[in-house]
Amino acid sequence: MSFQWAKNQAQNGIEDMVLLSKVTDDQITDNLKKRINADLMFTYIGPTLVAVNPYKRLPYFSEKEIEQYHGSAAYEHPPHIYATADKMFQSMITDEENQCVIISGESGAGKTECAKLIMNYIAAVSSKGGTHGNVVENIKQVILESNPLLESFGNAKTLRNNNSSRFGKYFEINFTKSGAPAGGKISNFLLEKSRVVGPGQGERNFHIFYQLTTSCTREEKEALGMMDPKYFHYLNVSREYSADGISDSEEYAAMKRGMEICNIVGNDQSSIFQILAGILHLGNVSFVEEGNDAKGIDKEILNAKLTSRIVTTGGFGGKRSSTYTVTMNIEQATNTRDALAKALYSRMFDWIVQSVNGALASLSRGIGTQSLCIGVLDIFGFEIFDKNGFEQFCINYVNERLQQIFIELTLKSEQEEYQREGIQWTPIDFFNNKVVVDLIESKKPPGVMAVLDDICSTMHAQVEGADQKFVQKLEMACSQNKHFKGQQSHFVISHYAGSVTYDCDGFTEANKDTPFIRNLFPEVVDELDKKRPTTVSHKIKTQSQELVDTLMRCTPSYIRCIKPNETKRPKDWDNKRVEHQVRYLNLKENIKFLRRFAILTPQTWPSWNVDMDPKEWQIGKNKVFIKSPESLFLLEEQRDRKF
Ligand code: ADP
Ligand code: MG
Repeated sequence: MSFQWAKNQAQNGIEDMVLLSKVTDDQITDNLKKRINADLMFTYIGPTLVAVNPYKRLPYFSEKEIEQYHGSAAYEHPPHIYATADKMFQSMITDEENQCVIISGESGAGKTECAKLIMNYIAAVSSKGGTHGNVVENIKQVILESNPLLESFGNAKTLRNNNSSRFGKYFEINFTKSGAPAGGKISNFLLEKSRVVGPGQGERNFHIFYQLTTSCTREEKEALGMMDPKYFHYLNVSREYSADGISDSEEYAAMKRGMEICNIVGNDQSSIFQILAGILHLGNVSFVEEGNDAKGIDKEILNAKLTSRIVTTGGFGGKRSSTYTVTMNIEQATNTRDALAKALYSRMFDWIVQSVNGALASLSRGIGTQSLCIGVLDIFGFEIFDKNGFEQFCINYVNERLQQIFIELTLKSEQEEYQREGIQWTPIDFFNNKVVVDLIESKKPPGVMAVLDDICSTMHAQVEGADQKFVQKLEMACSQNKHFKGQQSHFVISHYAGSVTYDCDGFTEANKDTPFIRNLFPEVVDELDKKRPTTVSHKIKTQSQELVDTLMRCTPSYIRCIKPNETKRPKDWDNKRVEHQVRYLNLKENIKFLRRFAILTPQTWPSWNVDMDPKEWQIGKNKVFIKSPESLFLLEEQRDRKF
């Protein structure tokens, strides 16, 4: 160990935190601080990458670094996301194994930027495709340039991040055996559609609305009846029209280019703009009470649809049902208007994602065989706010499922392998969050989602007290579970990342996504009723299961993103906030898990020999096998003495 190295270590922190002298949340936080102060945003925990958001452009993302990291081993160069990306790409080719990277962290921690860096790196180093050169080039173009398109429709300025993704995304790139991109597919999750009708104070609606209102062409402006953003209710409720660091006109141009590249042109393109304008104008429709009737606009169909709803009663136990139309009050009519706007927007968003997928699919037909893939998961982290509603419930559920994958793929599968191998083994204690997942999604005994779906299928969600009824039933169904606590109009779930209090207000309404569809298109009601109505929680459960299945077929890599402050400024370090993230991202446990076994390998600790009979332990390609519990204790003891 040279003096220079020791000095750098003191100043710049340690590159791999498995080597920290003490594994405490405090030491981890301190190490990350030293590194970011020296403009070093990346640090390893063994194979996991920790990335601290630098809030400024750092100089090590050029062609030069791409070349430097391409084909090199992780320890040859300082920690870098290119090393992580390169390892994935090389393993995919040489081991012929599908890869995925799970990027986690709270809003504004830098997940989406990390995802983009990985995409860019892979596009840069992957094969050019030989005879299919043109098609491969086009595929790379769709992969990269669909991003501004999706961000325009799916991102918004929030208090925590000026360009916050308001949807989760899994982007899978397919490759030929020789490593040329041959296609891809995006899956989107949980678009925050409530934003369409009411961004919070100081926040904006989705970027696209400001792009369109401020930057569309004169013809578009006339055709769409476009006005200043201040004119539209859905935009002026939050009184926030611009976002620092974002040029709506430049993004509008990039968004349009994305549309062209993804083949959203001509009528399709103008329909999208018409829907957007329609949503804005719809938001300006207001309702006034007239006698017992609610009316806002003339006797058009829309009027009837927006101000009345069809109610079906009876029809249970062999009785005939009867259907009649009920006039709504102002609040109900406004809710219906908003429900329509949200539904239009989220369906349009799905359609855009499908169009990107369509463009990739039609290109990949020109290549044929695609056998391998790399997937990048960029999804919201855990959300614990002062007030948590149905959206937080869904997001946190998906995060619980992701934690299950981590457990399945690392901790659990390793330990089961020892058992299969007949190796005596003292299991490592870890919190298996399956109990929490079950509490949420189990059908029998009914978990939170089952109770919610049950209420939604038996009661009209708009009926007063549906949410109240939901909490009562929940209390009866789940009170035995020690991760659950009911409290009048709230319930608390002890998630693996902390306890979250959910406010039941609006749960039934948000879960029951369909009343407005029934109202708008009564002819499809019958069809909807045939199946069990698809609720939002049902959809999320299915989608998460698909995601888990997909990820489980891959070799996972992990990137943990850390947000250093709330000010979005470089060199501003909020120690308390970082330590909190270090804690709930389980970095300490991650290091401890690795250290427990890494001390056996001379590659990791050349300077230290384990004082133990070599027959007592063996190092496999990826795993350490320890023969007896006594040896394990001995090993643990030695490790404790060392650290
Ligand atoms: P998240 O997806 O986790 O919510 P983002 O990736 O959108 O966070 O990052 C939030 C903001 O932080 C970005 O808009 C950018 O200003 C800044 N940022 C994130 N990562 C980097 C980076 N690697 N270099 C410079 N700035 C970054
Ligand atoms: Mg994001």
